[in-house]
Amino acid sequence: MKAVAFFGKKDIRTIDVNIPKVKEDGVLIKMKACGICGSDMHVYNSDMLTEDSTKLIDDYRIIGHEFTGEIVEVGKNTAGFKTGDRVTSVHNKGGMAEYIEIPGDRLKNLFKIPGNTSLETAATLEPFCNPMHSFHMREPGDNETVAIFGAGIIGLGYLQIVKAYTKARTIITDISELRLQKAKMIGADLVINAKEEDPVKKIKQLTGDTYVRYQKKTAGGCDISIDCAGIPLTLLQCFEVLKIENGTLIIASIFEDEIKIDPNMIVFKYMSILGSMGYYDSETEEAFGLITGGKVNRDILITNRFSLNEAAEAFAVQGKSGESVKVLIVD
Ligand SMILES: [Zn+2]
Repeated sequence: MKAVAFFGKKDIRTIDVNIPKVKEDGVLIKMKACGICGSDMHVYNSDMLTEDSTKLIDDYRIIGHEFTGEIVEVGKNTAGFKTGDRVTSVHNKGGMAEYIEIPGDRLKNLFKIPGNTSLETAATLEPFCNPMHSFHMREPGDNETVAIFGAGIIGLGYLQIVKAYTKARTIITDISELRLQKAKMIGADLVINAKEEDPVKKIKQLTGDTYVRYQKKTAGGCDISIDCAGIPLTLLQCFEVLKIENGTLIIASIFEDEIKIDPNMIVFKYMSILGSMGYYDSETEEAFGLITGGKVNRDILITNRFSLNEAAEAFAVQGKSGESVKVLIVD
């Protein structure tokens, strides 16, 4: 079967491997759609997270974990699933391949897709669980202001959840006009193109600009800032736009570089900093409920589709924020 393997930095190839054998208690899925995750991009760009993000098949590192498909075979002791079930997966790896084998102890990470939801739409579930977790770590109130740095699939997903659940004022910044257009469609109160204007200055103009004792930098007026970009500049901007006291910074991204920060800013602003990675099972169910219930429109975030044979090009396009939000491999 065709599968997408990681060979080294910026080296993704579509290769031929054996179709895995279904286990006694497992299932075999025919893949229909598989998203390229931000973590897959870290593998691709810098060879970090490689073991965590790939599955060994015939000694090749097969990438992809945001997949959906149809069950084509079950083992003789498999419970809960049958041939023909349409499913979406979280936590399981090896998704960019024609077939994916899931053993019995991992079936709990498969969710049946209801008839009203397409296989492509359902493939956006996994990267919707992460922002659901971020949201619940510190839920914004209706009168609060939230600043989102980075309008990729995570930042936009977080925006969708904040809009679905609260009346909080939302500000989002990015350098991609395409991604900011999506933020407008979702209903962001303010979008800032950081290529055209300084987001910190703009946010302070809107939310407040207050002296912080012993500090050279003033404070903005945001109750929550969330980094969904994973670059040192945006993280520093997140620190700065938070209000003078008791703001919450959520870090929801992975960084390829180390960063120098001034801890005094955290101290004198009594800041809380939360790291958000992963999600609980209950949050997966909640996120899937919002998708299948039509409470959020995930389809607008799917911007590009490529076949398994075109995987190298798909990764290149996913790396261009001006051209893509979520790239899917479809088969
Ligand atoms: Zn993912």
